[in-house]
Formats: sequence, C-alpha cells, structure tokens
Amino acid sequence: MSAGDVAVDDDPFEEQRERVENPMKRLFRVYGVPNLRYLITGIVSSIGARLLDLVPPILLGFAVDAIFSQEKSYAAIWLVPDGWIPASQEGQVWFTVGLIAATFSVGAIFHWTRNWGFNAFSQNIQHAIRTDTYDAMQGLDMDFFADKQTGELLSILSNDVNRLERFLNDGLNSLFRLSVMVLGIAGVLFYYNWQLALVALLPVPLIAGFTYVFIQIIQPKYAEVRSTVGNVNSRLENNLGGISVIKASTTESYESDRVDDVSQDYFDANWDAIDTRIKFFPGLRVLAGFGFVVTFLVGGLWVVSEPGQGPWFFTEPISTGEFVTFILLTQRFIWPMAQFGQIINMYQRARASSARVFGLMDERGRVEESLDAKELEVTEGSVEYENVSFSYDDPATLDDDESVELILDSVDFDVDGGETVALVGPTGAGKSTVLKLLLRLYDVDDGSVQIDGTDVRDVTLPSLRRQLAYVQQDTYLFYGSVEDNIRYGSFDASREDVVDAAKAAEAHDFITNLPEGYDTEVGERGVKLSGGQRQRIAIARAVLKDPKILVLDEATSDVDTETEMLIQRSLDDLTEDRTTFAIAHRLSTIKDADQILVFEDGGIVERGSHEDLLARDGLYAHLWAVQAGEIDELPDSFVERAAERRAKTDVETDDDD
Ligand code: ADP
Repeated sequence: MSAGDVAVDDDPFEEQRERVENPMKRLFRVYGVPNLRYLITGIVSSIGARLLDLVPPILLGFAVDAIFSQEKSYAAIWLVPDGWIPASQEGQVWFTVGLIAATFSVGAIFHWTRNWGFNAFSQNIQHAIRTDTYDAMQGLDMDFFADKQTGELLSILSNDVNRLERFLNDGLNSLFRLSVMVLGIAGVLFYYNWQLALVALLPVPLIAGFTYVFIQIIQPKYAEVRSTVGNVNSRLENNLGGISVIKASTTESYESDRVDDVSQDYFDANWDAIDTRIKFFPGLRVLAGFGFVVTFLVGGLWVVSEPGQGPWFFTEPISTGEFVTFILLTQRFIWPMAQFGQIINMYQRARASSARVFGLMDERGRVEESLDAKELEVTEGSVEYENVSFSYDDPATLDDDESVELILDSVDFDVDGGETVALVGPTGAGKSTVLKLLLRLYDVDDGSVQIDGTDVRDVTLPSLRRQLAYVQQDTYLFYGSVEDNIRYGSFDASREDVVDAAKAAEAHDFITNLPEGYDTEVGERGVKLSGGQRQRIAIARAVLKDPKILVLDEATSDVDTETEMLIQRSLDDLTEDRTTFAIAHRLSTIKDADQILVFEDGGIVERGSHEDLLARDGLYAHLWAVQAGEIDELPDSFVERAAERRAKTDVETDDDD
C-alpha cells in the first residue's frame, strides 16, 4: 500500500464502473488474447523453473541414501537414464554435483524467460489500454470534462492502468509460480509417502484460513488509510494553491493546525493497519513452525522406529533420505501459502480498476458523428442559426422532477459569407454557448445550425473543425516552443509562415524579445507569458490556419488598449474576406461589424449595425454610452435586470457546491 494508490477507491467513476460486466474476462479477451504468446512463454517457463527448483532437494535425498548409506541404488532416479550413473561412490558425488549445477543453470534460463514473458505481457497490455483509454476519452464531449475533475481522469490513466499492469505482471507471475510450486511439492510429497505428506500439509488449511481472516480485517483499515491520506493531499494541495492568501491573512498557525489534524488522522489510521499487519507475519510463522515441528517429530520417530512399526497409524516405510527431502520441501511449502491471500487482494483491486477503465471506454458522448456524415465543403461561408434552443443539462441524466434550464431560447439569425457578426451583452447571456454550437462542442436541442445550408450535424467533425479557427479568451499553451504553439494544428507550416502569422497578430516583437525568440519554451514548465501575449499567440495560430470561418471569443480582452488597437488592425485584414464571429466586451472593437447581436438571458434582444442600435436607444446604446464615458452608469431598469440575473447565477453556483 503506497500513497500512489490514493483516491482511486473513492470512486468518482462509480456510475461508469457499474455498467461494466465481467471486466476481467473482457480484459483477457480484448487485451490478453492478442498477447497470449507472451503469457504462454511466461507460464511454461514458470512451470519449468519451479519444477527444476524441486530437483536439488530430491537429488540430495537420493544422494544421501545412495552415496553415503548405500541404502538405495542411484538407478532409482527417474530423471536420468541408468547408463549415465557412475559406479564408484566418488563418481556418484561428482555426478550429483554436476546434476545440481546443470539444474541451476537451466533454471536460471527459465527464470529469465519467465520474467521476460510476464513483463512483455503486462507492458504490452498496459500500453494498449492506456492509449485506447486516452483515445476514447479525447473523443468525449466537453460535457464530460466539465463534470469530472482532471485529477479523477488522470487517476484512471495512471493509477488504474498501473494497477492492472502490476496485477498482470507480479500478480499472474506469483499466481503461477505459487500454484506450480504448491502443486509440485504436494505431488512429490504424496509420491514419496502419502501418510507423512498428510502430516506435512496439516498447516495448509490453517494458514489459508488465517490469511483469509487477516485480509477481511485489514481491508477496511486500508480503506481508512486511503481516505485519510486523500484528505492530507487535498489539504496540502489547497494550502499550496492558496499560499498567498494564507500569508496575506496571517493564518499560518491556523493552517498548521489543520494540516496537523489531517496528518494525525492519517497517522492513526496507518498505525491501526500497521498494528494488524505486524502481528500477521509472526502469527504465520507460528503456524508454519508448528507444521514443521509436527512433521519433524512424526518423521523423526518414524525413521528411528523398526520397519513397519511407525508411530500411530503410519505403516509405510521411510528412509533417512526421504525424511531429509520431506523436511526441506515442507519448509518451502509454507510461505507461498501466505502469498495467496495477497494475490486474491491484488485481483480484487485489478478488477475494480479494469471496471473503471472499461467504464470510461464505454462512455458515450452526446455529440456523435452520424453514420452517413459527409465532408463539409465551405464555399460562401454563410451561417444560419435557425430557432436554436439549447441546455447544458442532459435530459437523460435528469431526475423526473427536474426541468431543463434553457441557456439559449429560439436564437435565430443569418450571417452572409464574409460578414463579421459581433455578439455582445452581459456575462452569462449565452454568447459563448452560441459559438460552441457552431464548433459542435455541443449539439443543439432544437432548431439547427447550418453552414452554407448544411446542418453541422450532417458533416464529419474533423471537416467541420478544420474550417474554423477558434480563439478563446483564455489561451492554453502546450509545453513546447513559441513556434510549436503557433504552428499547433497547422503542422506543415514553415518558419516563415509562422513569423508572418506572428507579425499579423502583433506578436512578433514580443516574441523576438524573449530569451530564445521563437524557440523559447512556454507552457506550464516554460517561460510564463502574460494573458495578452498568450492571446496574440492564439491569434497567430488562427492566422496561420487561414480558416473559412473565424471565431473570436473575447480574443483581445487581456491586452492593453494600445496593443488592442494594433491587433485590431491586423484582425481587420484577417476578417475582411471571411465570415467572423466576435464576442467582445469593449464595444469599440466591434462597432464596425456588419451585424451586432445583443444577447440577454439566452435570447437576442436587439440586432443591427452600430448606428441602428444607437438610434434604438436600448441596452446596446446604454452600454456604449457607459463605455464611451458619456454617462456614468446604466439607467436603473438595466441595473435591476442585471441584479436579478446575478441573483439567479449565484443560486446556480450554490447548487454546484
Ligand atoms: P456568455 O458567453 O454570454 O458570458 P455563456 O455562454 O458562457 O455566456 O454562458 C451562458 C450560461 O450557460 C451561463 O449561465 C453559464 O453559467 C452557463 N454555462 C456555461 N457553460 C456551461 C457548462 N459547461 N455547463 C453548464 N452550464 C454552463
């Protein structure tokens, strides 16, 4: 049990997991069968290695009898042909030593091929599962990612897959090794002397029962350990994230106490588990020792007794050599028994992990490509929203008494090819959602979104998204160079193309000032760029993509006014001949748009050109007046509406908690 196992068992994926039947069967069918050759190599070698391990003690027994006491003929060994055995006692000693050395050498090769087989089996499977799971996950809707914590998804891709790997390697390896060993030893013991074998096997049921009880007791304790260590991690993560708040509020000692509390809980839970575990092994030792002592006592009395006059009911004759073999083998027999419990435990955990992995693979999104989807050809670039209604709630997962909350209600507008349309209005009005429907990050519930008269649901997703460039407010940079980030998605572009795009996005100057220019590493581990710099990289990315339709979601919100004016100039070039959607808070940036749509509460409340809207003297005109500094504040009626909207959003946020 290590801290790395944390959190998986708290099961954020219960729903997915419960849908999967017979996960281990499926694991072997889907991933085991194609890699069967490795498994077979492992199993055969394992059997070979174990059987060879049994040979030295058997040989030793024979040697004792044959060489030293001359009680038996060496020819009794069924492992070697009679003709091979030297006649002299000295020769027999050498022969025995040679045989044992040969067994060890061949055994070493088997050990190697066994580990090779099991490792190749588990590594190939973990690689295939991880990549398949990732591919499946990448294809899921945005909905799915909005619901799940990144940590939970990561834990499937790392912890669960690793756990399967461990079971397939160590678990299976041990299982076969132990089974062969236990069956092999038991077989040899019975072959020699079934009566003494029964005595030697006496502790087996006791050990099995003892181990079973131990697992029943320890498992809930481990669950407690996992949960408390999870609390420790959450606390630490939380505090490190908020360290500036802690310092600013001088709550260091308060936080130290809180960390102390959760750490103490972990200590207590862990100690409880340790206390049980450290008693288990000495307990096993006592049982094993008991078995050994009894076998030695009975066997010893038997060896010294007159032939046919063994103790109690023992009638079969037994030689000193047989007795030595018995004792040596019995010793080896006991410990593996205790490991069976661990294997069962590993199996149970692997089963839960594979259920989670398959549950994720089986997850189906709401946005699916239709079977007869065709490639989208954009000619004009006209876009039509026809009575679009949308809700983020999935009706399939709502309870009967819940109603869907409409985010967009009958949104209807047309954009001609090459036009620029601006979406404005208060936060939460649904502007971004409108654009997400165009990209098909979500599907409409009612109505349709069409490009050049084709419903976006009738075309393939890649052909749709290739025609669109989407510049978001918060630009994510991948780990890599600035150049890689601009080229992202247009991988064939040359260095010159990248530089031209950066110039067009007013990014060239700041990039050349970075320590290594276009080769500067950015992203989480690289140089930190400001929000405005990231936005300009995203715009350069869009310029390079040269899309038919451009989607700008607050693309210049984080840059200062001067830079914005510069970018605006280059955006004017970029948007001139292509259909452009722009969401903007600063109305000055969109006043030249061909069409301005004013959104409020999921619907369009005003539409027209800047001049039209000013003339209407409605919401747009007032927002404009505030931003232009002509009036200090919105009229009361607008303020009241905004307050109502905020109250509504606050309630929604509370629900989320
Ligand atoms: P805008 O772009 O106008 O600020 P959005 O389209 O982002 O508005 O959001 C419209 C409404 O949809 C808001 O009430 C917001 O809380 C909600 N919303 C946005 N994204 C999601 C989501 N992934 N899941 C559920 N609700 C969402």
